Amino acid sequence: MSGEDSKTQKKVFDAETASSLVKELRENFGSGRTRSYEWRVSQVKVLLKAVLDNEEQIIDALRSDLAKPPLETVVYEIGMFKNSCELILKELKHWMTPEKVKTSIRTFPSSAEIVPEPLGLVLVISPWNYPILLSLDPVVGAIAAGNAVVLKPSEITPATSSVLAKIIEEYMDHSFVRVVQGAVDETTALLQQKWDKIFYTGNGKVGRIVMTAAAKHLTPVALELGGKCPAVVDSNVNLKVAARRIISGKWGLNNGQACVSPDYIITTKEYVPKLLDALKTELEACYGKNPLESEDLSRIVSSNHFARLSKLLNDDKVSGKIVYGGEKDENKLRIAPTILLDVPQDSLVMGEEIFGPLLPVITVNKLEESLDLINSGEKPLAAYVFTTDKKFKEQFVKNVSAGGLLVNDTSLHLVVETLPFGGVGESGMGAYHGKFSFDAFTHKKAVLYRSFAGDSSLRYPPYTDTKQRL
Ligand code: NAD
Repeated sequence: MSGEDSKTQKKVFDAETASSLVKELRENFGSGRTRSYEWRVSQVKVLLKAVLDNEEQIIDALRSDLAKPPLETVVYEIGMFKNSCELILKELKHWMTPEKVKTSIRTFPSSAEIVPEPLGLVLVISPWNYPILLSLDPVVGAIAAGNAVVLKPSEITPATSSVLAKIIEEYMDHSFVRVVQGAVDETTALLQQKWDKIFYTGNGKVGRIVMTAAAKHLTPVALELGGKCPAVVDSNVNLKVAARRIISGKWGLNNGQACVSPDYIITTKEYVPKLLDALKTELEACYGKNPLESEDLSRIVSSNHFARLSKLLNDDKVSGKIVYGGEKDENKLRIAPTILLDVPQDSLVMGEEIFGPLLPVITVNKLEESLDLINSGEKPLAAYVFTTDKKFKEQFVKNVSAGGLLVNDTSLHLVVETLPFGGVGESGMGAYHGKFSFDAFTHKKAVLYRSFAGDSSLRYPPYTDTKQRL
């Protein structure tokens, strides 16, 4: 190898490098610096400043990776992250304060408290669809809880990942917060190490890889996964508003490439013509007659995902079922909003999470049938119902199991910071957002305080008959 070649050769991030990184950060964590309120607050402020100072670069990177409309970036990536930071800055002192709790008569006299303590060194592995928010929201939660963090952003959105790496390196305390860029090899090297928590957002297949690796070290995991999120539409709703809210949660979220996007609709056979008309009218109002040219729709992230979605559309079982859209441009990786009517349950599009702009509409005779239909599949991350019927709403809330439910809208539950955000069953485990993010990276240490008073002889041998009778 010539000297020139060896100079330009990139340093490999292998298990050995990962091991020294972990060793270094663990030693640094041992200094205790991350535990102080001051360090946590300064790092949250600095991370927020890093994002706000580099807003233009972030918008450009997301435009390059996903053609994400700038407004979507500002609202869902930067705005939501800003809200998380502001809440932490407002509440952290309170969250960090040990909670006094009642004690038992059996320990009298005593006092007790729950002391929140950082877990240690955590690994955050993030996906490509909201690469800023889904990287930085867990990172800032981990920092607020006083941990050292390594972030591994997705290789599928390289422009955004490199902005993330750059701003974290430039602004954050390098002794405790790092970014490792890379794909499967780098993640595998990281997963071989011992962490105090792994926070993974992505698909269930890799979720299983993460959990298997974590099991080796008894490391706890949060798995923020996906699933097929249903939206049930009753015939008694404000149809225009319902249609617009479905559009906003589906195509207005990264063109359907969002974990909480409605994956399919269920409505009655009788009502479906009206619902389809409303969706078509409102879609045209949002994206015009030629949505492939719309600047307000993200593109498909990669040619692999484009091919995956094309396969769902080209399935024989879907032929003749497209009632709106269906246009594609492979060169530009664009797919128009597409509605499919009554595709069979064994079609490819109903067999996996769609994660793109295709929306099957399934019809039933009676709306109540939707509950069995939803419950016959894996538990989704979110489930939506549009109805003004109090009884049906209650039935839905009681009987549908999902990470979260939302009545008469889509996706907005995730901006409510008093609600935990996370999945159940196949859609994941563990939750975050608001105080739940702090809790996700905190050990709640139980502490009981006793004095030397009240030392009853009852607990000590010999266990005499008198003692046993008591
Ligand atoms: P992705 O391909 O970017 O993968 C996520 C992360 O896993 C990346 O950092 C990637 O490098 C890593 N990874 C990929 N293959 C790996 C392997 N073999 N070993 C170790 N690590 C590996 O993103 P994705 O999985 O395509 O993301 C989409 C999925 O994420 C969807 O299922 C979606 O529903 C889900 N999601 C869930 C949430 C949530 O909050 N619950 C949010 C967004 C996305």
